[in-house]
Amino acid sequence: MRILLSNDDGYFAPGLALLAESLAGLGEITVVAPERDRSGASNSLTLDRPLTVRRSANGFLFVNGTPTDCVHLAVTGLLEHLPDIVVSGINLGANMGDDTIYSGTVAAATEGFLLGIPSIAVSLHGKEGGHYATAARVARELVERFRCEPLRQPMLLNVNVPDIEYRRVAGHRGYAPRQAAQGGAGHQGGHAAQPDRVLDRRGRRRAGRRPGHRLSRGRIRPRVGHAAADRPHAPAADRHGAGLARDEAAMSLAPERGIGMTSQRARDRMVARLREQGVRDGLVLEAMRAVPRHLFVDEALASRAYEDSALPIGFEQTISRPLAVARMLEVARDGRDLDRVLEIGTGCGYGAAVLARIARQVYSVERIAPLLERARANLRSLRIGNLRLAHGDGNRGLPEAAPFDAIVVAAAAPQVPPALHEQLARGGRLVIPVGVDSQELTLIERTASGLRETRLDAVRFVPLRSGKG
Ligand code: SAH
Repeated sequence: MRILLSNDDGYFAPGLALLAESLAGLGEITVVAPERDRSGASNSLTLDRPLTVRRSANGFLFVNGTPTDCVHLAVTGLLEHLPDIVVSGINLGANMGDDTIYSGTVAAATEGFLLGIPSIAVSLHGKEGGHYATAARVARELVERFRCEPLRQPMLLNVNVPDIEYRRVAGHRGYAPRQAAQGGAGHQGGHAAQPDRVLDRRGRRRAGRRPGHRLSRGRIRPRVGHAAADRPHAPAADRHGAGLARDEAAMSLAPERGIGMTSQRARDRMVARLREQGVRDGLVLEAMRAVPRHLFVDEALASRAYEDSALPIGFEQTISRPLAVARMLEVARDGRDLDRVLEIGTGCGYGAAVLARIARQVYSVERIAPLLERARANLRSLRIGNLRLAHGDGNRGLPEAAPFDAIVVAAAAPQVPPALHEQLARGGRLVIPVGVDSQELTLIERTASGLRETRLDAVRFVPLRSGKG
């Protein structure tokens, strides 16, 4: 099991160290936490400056950003594999009511959840901090439980553990020690654990109880709030198509929905035009309807983002025209569920963002380092958890992540690079513009009897160059 830990008190905080120690036996732990106390940072991303990741002497990674940045960076860039769970804490002081809006501890878990990963925020309810070990143990029991009963949906838990000895805690079913002492310090006030008071993602009350989290009466108990346990989103590992719902939710939180020429209506019109131009794949069209293309171009060009044209993105490169993106993805997908996909030529990141909505795991390689950084910045606010960007020469493909169900090359090559042939899975499809002055979109399929090449439309792409830029 892969466990990502974070907090809002900073990487040196005792609560984090205890959490790491307590969960150590359960799987592979990575800690990515803020470099200083960022309590009250809420679910905010740093978009106005680059972030730096450093490693402390004890192996924890720390970032000069918010708790949300930490989880976001870890999931979308630092970690080789998606974590199975995100745990944030242990915060000193309960997070209840309004606190859950401002808390950085809860925000780190929220970020995990938004990226499609089950996530838990853990706080110690008290001011003394005398019993961190109790909260650490409750956290371990929860994680163990997730390990034994993997969730079918991402879930966000906000857990507040009373600052008392573990043996005096009782009541969250399945973990209550058999010989738990009765009574004790009395009820801790509030009613966050009452299932009928739990709110879902949109702030509506959610009725009913969930089996397995019922609380026994008359005992001191950790407070467990299921924010959004019933959201309709697919888990990270099962995102074929269903990722649409997940990202829709994430995007609706982002301020980039646009107005006028950059609005959803402009995107709808673009999709209607793509349909008229012959694009039939519903999943591709839906993905293009959802991804805000205007975020990937310079502000001065944003009003032209939904026209059917390539636009400059700097470094003598262009964002491909919508029809080219749609057509390539339609050919690459061919109606299949795509598992692993490689894109060569990240550019501003638009094509990768669209691909991430139609494939389970996407890798994208760009040779120009500053362009890749720009793509990262463009993509950050979209919170895409299943996309890995790499700096390299796409002529080599990405052997460490091969084989791929599909490879999409967004630049024209004089000939098909042999490494790309080799990295195609059986049944895989490679779509690449081939040619120098006149280019043809070319499909290469790896069939049981070898490679089959089909020439498709005449196209116009920037050249595929050699080496890193
Ligand atoms: N996918 C982008 C298209 C960008 S244009 C989009 O959505 O709009 C093509 C990109 O391919 C450029 O950014 C260019 O720098 C990159 N490129 C060219 N040769 C490359 C190579 N050998 N390896 C990786 N990227 C390459």
